[in-house]
This record gives sequence, C-alpha cells and structure tokens, in this order.
Amino acid sequence: MKNLWTPWRFKYITSPKEERCVLCQAADSIDLKSTLVLFRGKYNFILLNRYPYSNGHLMIAPVDHENSPLKSPIEASTEQSILARKCIEILTDVYQPHGFNIGMNLGSAGGAGIDDHYHLHIVPRWIGDTNYMTTVSGTRLIPQSLEETWEILNPYFIDLKF
Ligand SMILES: [Zn+2]
Repeated sequence: MKNLWTPWRFKYITSPKEERCVLCQAADSIDLKSTLVLFRGKYNFILLNRYPYSNGHLMIAPVDHENSPLKSPIEASTEQSILARKCIEILTDVYQPHGFNIGMNLGSAGGAGIDDHYHLHIVPRWIGDTNYMTTVSGTRLIPQSLEETWEILNPYFIDLKF
C-alpha cells in the first residue's frame, strides 16, 4: 500500500486528547450528522472518519468501548463483517472506487489513532489517488466535505437491512 499524503491528520495527532472517547461519544450521539454516524447496528455502528485517508473513508466500530475484537462477543465480529460487505457495496455504488483498503490497527504499536476503542477502516482507493490527494499549503483537497459525504451516503444507510 502506498502511503497517502494526508497532512490534515496532523491536526488529529497533535490535538489534545478529549476527555471522553470520541467513538463512544459518536455511538451515543443523538445528532448523527454532527458525529458523522451513518448507521447503528446491534453491536456496531458505522461512521465517517473525521480525518479521512480518502473520500468516503468509513469506520465500523463496536458500540461497546473495547480495545480488541477478542473482547467483543463473536456475534459482534460477524455483524462487523456483514456491515463491511454493505459498506463496500454502497461505496462501490456511490463512488465507483478502483479498490479498497480494509483493516484494523490494534494498539498504538499497530498504528491505532484511537487505541482503546477498536475500529475497522474501509478506505476506498482510486488509481492515482496518491497523486490527487496531495495538498497545497496545508489545505486539504478532498473533493467533498465530510458533511456532503454524509448527506450523500445517509439515504443508503437509513434503510440498510441485513
Ligand atoms: Zn470508546
């Protein structure tokens, strides 16, 4: 995997740690749009990554605050896999990416930004995206704002059945 040059993530890395886990805040939130939540399942919820590697970068996280899938019931892992398939399906319909990166970074040594609440990344990729994702003077050039992306994807997730 080629690394995408995403300096806006620096803001995330350097911002002070919040009092409460951001994923738990999103899991409990009433205002789905402001927390970028698209779907809530029985064990997991789906949200847009606030510091995306590409347009449409989703995350599937357990509702419970756990640092490893080994601490969740097996049903949570099953649901997470099914939701990952749905995310691939929806992102393919909406954005026609050329590929995906899907995976988890477990533990800070594994590169996890939020290492105490595990989450599965679904990152759509396009041929050449390592080029168009470059930035000028620190301004991010992601084609859509997060709010626009949420608006576009929301109808697909509202009626999600599985
Ligand atoms: Zn949490």
